[in-house]
Amino acid sequence: LASTVSDSDFNWQAADAAHHLHPFSDHKSLHQGRVRIITSAEGVYLTDDVGNRILDGMAGLWCVAIGYGRQELVDAAAAQMKTLPFYNTFFKTATRPVISLAERLTAMAPGDLNHAFFACSGSEAVDTALRMARTFWITKGQPSKRVIIGREFGYHGSTTLGAAAGGMVDMHRQGAALPDFAHVMPPYWYGYGGQMSPEEFGLFAARQVEDKIREIGAENVAAFIGEPIQGAGGVIIPPETYWPEIQRICRAHDILLIADEVICGFGRTGRMFGSETFGITPDLMTLAKGITSGYIPLSAVLVGDRVADVLINDTGEFYHGFTYSGHPVACAVALANLDILESEHLAARAEASGIKLRAKLIAALGDQPIIGEIRGTGLIGAIELTADRRTRRFFEKRGRVGALCRDHCFSNNLVMRAVRDTMVFSPPLTITDAEMDDLVDRATTAIMATQ
Ligand code: PLP
Repeated sequence: LASTVSDSDFNWQAADAAHHLHPFSDHKSLHQGRVRIITSAEGVYLTDDVGNRILDGMAGLWCVAIGYGRQELVDAAAAQMKTLPFYNTFFKTATRPVISLAERLTAMAPGDLNHAFFACSGSEAVDTALRMARTFWITKGQPSKRVIIGREFGYHGSTTLGAAAGGMVDMHRQGAALPDFAHVMPPYWYGYGGQMSPEEFGLFAARQVEDKIREIGAENVAAFIGEPIQGAGGVIIPPETYWPEIQRICRAHDILLIADEVICGFGRTGRMFGSETFGITPDLMTLAKGITSGYIPLSAVLVGDRVADVLINDTGEFYHGFTYSGHPVACAVALANLDILESEHLAARAEASGIKLRAKLIAALGDQPIIGEIRGTGLIGAIELTADRRTRRFFEKRGRVGALCRDHCFSNNLVMRAVRDTMVFSPPLTITDAEMDDLVDRATTAIMATQ
């Protein structure tokens, strides 16, 4: 067994192939090569089991905001485990870490998001927000308001409700094409903007939501859900005109607005929340990933006064929750993580570093024929690989060139993800100038090898 033999004697590859089902993986192709086994990490670098030092351009899965190896989080977890490793928050109980975190998050959050509900993953947070939105309308005597409007290429997690709200058709095909979910086009100017200016296209894309509401009837629509920047769908950064128009439309038709900040939250976009970067005042906000920098699973839904008032005063029991809602160790780690985010001004640093990183990428790669666009906000960004940079034409077989480039990154010890033919990056917010140079060098080598 793995635990009873030394690392080198054990065949980890064979055991992984025989027993481990990976998420979002094609297992046949996965085991044609080696699985990269990560054994440790420090700062922005990972180490694998054959000694490679790998630059993590994705901060894990968009989550390790403060970088790896921060002792403060280890100490917070150990201290809390010793004092009180677990107690639930059901049945008229709470713990101090969960109360402290609720107070702290709601004080940081924009608008009137004055209430917090906790879960373990982004998917659970989304599920919770959708249940809250529907419960809100049921309680208010408008049960027909059930439809959730999301967007193509939106990603809202992998529970059935989250997958239904998201716009990933492969997930819909696996049983998540639920009734009472609708989707509209994403504000993807590079891909769909045609001859329109970004500003014109932002309004055009937002008005698809209004058209959809009219088609379904506002009396049947509960909420619109969107990521401030669509992350997993390819770092789709909306033009400035988009979110204010979405906000206007939701207000005009009395539809709740859910900002899914699982990726954008906690400094990634250069402000603490993506809603601040884009001027969104959501009714509900989902948070995960950067809330603990991925050191331990935790997520939250922040709830605005309008919805909270109905849930607290009129709904009666809200039949929803998880054993680990508000897990005290996770909350203690989140508090230590927020200390670091704030004391090191990592949101502001992400904004400044993002500007530098894009400038470096443009200087190194901007003239290459394969580069269609290099975009970013804070430390989340994308490099569009294109068949024709003048017309922004996509490659014939979507995703093939992206996968090739991702593999070249991998061989160059750089983690970057390919979404179709868009290379996406979101390094830890602590990345230094020298590390950004390293990232750009490795990305340049990979992209030159791809074209
Ligand atoms: N929402 C968004 C915007 C996400 O990016 C993700 C994960 O990438 C999720 C929800 C789901 O989070 P989790 O994988 O923690 O369930």
